[in-house]
Amino acid sequence: MKFLSTRRQAAALGFSPALAAGLAPDAGLYVPERIPQVDPLEFGEVTDLPALAAQLLAPFLKDDPLAACLPALCGEAFDFPAPLRAISADLFQLELFHGPTAAFKDFGARFLAASLQAQQAAADQALTIVVATSGDTGAAVAAAFHDRPGLKVSVLYPDGRVSPRQAHQLGCFGGNVRAFAVAGSFDDCQALAKQALSDGSLQASTPLSSANSISLGRWLPQMVYYASAALSEWRRSGRPLNFVVPTGNLGNAMAAALARAMGLPIGRIVLACNANATLPEFFAGADYRPRASIPTLANAMDVGAPSNFERLRWLQPADAQLREDFQAFSASDAQIRASITRIAHETGIVVCPHTATAWHALPMAGARPGEAWAVVATAHPAKFEQVVEPLVGPVPVPEALARMLERPSHALPLPADYAHLRQALAEG
Ligand SMILES: *Cc1c(COP(=O)(O)O)cnc(C)c1O
Repeated sequence: MKFLSTRRQAAALGFSPALAAGLAPDAGLYVPERIPQVDPLEFGEVTDLPALAAQLLAPFLKDDPLAACLPALCGEAFDFPAPLRAISADLFQLELFHGPTAAFKDFGARFLAASLQAQQAAADQALTIVVATSGDTGAAVAAAFHDRPGLKVSVLYPDGRVSPRQAHQLGCFGGNVRAFAVAGSFDDCQALAKQALSDGSLQASTPLSSANSISLGRWLPQMVYYASAALSEWRRSGRPLNFVVPTGNLGNAMAAALARAMGLPIGRIVLACNANATLPEFFAGADYRPRASIPTLANAMDVGAPSNFERLRWLQPADAQLREDFQAFSASDAQIRASITRIAHETGIVVCPHTATAWHALPMAGARPGEAWAVVATAHPAKFEQVVEPLVGPVPVPEALARMLERPSHALPLPADYAHLRQALAEG
């Protein structure tokens, strides 16, 4: 299988080189040259996530050097569950927060880390992953790469603008992971990371790579939990499963869309956004208008220019058909708070502010009687206790998160000035 750039100006590459490249040289995103087709029956009774992952991803790694270790990579990435929790006969919550940093990004980050480690086995120089984060990405990447030989991580986060628990998580790894508390905004962090990644003379001595949500190594494995949930409902009731997905950069929702395009029994895909309404406005009929982001309670979704939009266009170039295939709804901070409170009262389930946008969107999606729907829960509420606890009371902390919060945490202060970052990276 080869991968093409969405902008069509770069050479087609196999999985391994496309993974190593991250962004294509023409600044496009890598997409598969064709979409492999599967029949749900091919998966028999397979329910084990690693086994399902290896089967689903095999066509994408065909003829690639990493194909031989795909089952091992899937074993590492999918070593915690993604339960489909039944709320009624027709309504479910797909819980993606049982990994080490209590957010869905653990799945993709762990697959990427395991893949890069396998690639690095032959290299004689360490590879440094530079990642800018507004919270969840950095923690998932740091946890996934921690202690992996041949790999280092430098995380850049805006000092004082992530939740205290997120900041603690970012700084608690040590070893091959360094956390930089940048005196600036998330956009400053992203600009610094981009500058480093395009600094040819630095890279000659210190090889760098990225781990953001456009990476194939994060995008493709995210299909696995949609496939698993949809197959389980299809085997049980013969129905396709419809999903409401909390959405920022569109990576997670695009994985659901690719799984649907492969032939898995997935019905409608509804994009739940916060007050950053670029996608809801587009799907309601306006032109696509990317813009600067605004801060909200669901901070991991504070995106005004979703980077995976190019993949959405690749999957369906016609606007009219796109608007048939997806819906998108926006939730204000007040609506996020109201949803957290309402869902706790109605179901007894406490949700994080990101998941609350999906619960807010659900009644707007126009579900028909007899359809099966799953709300996707992207993070554990205990990560956002400052928002959630005043509304619904104390939230127990999951064990993995508690262990991290007990470890000492240390971040290096960094001015929002590239010369300082360059020196820190060069010194390793
Ligand atoms: C990153 C994140 C999202 C948004 O996912 P995208 O793939 O960027 O659309 C939603 N919820 C949580 C908790 C996240 O960390």
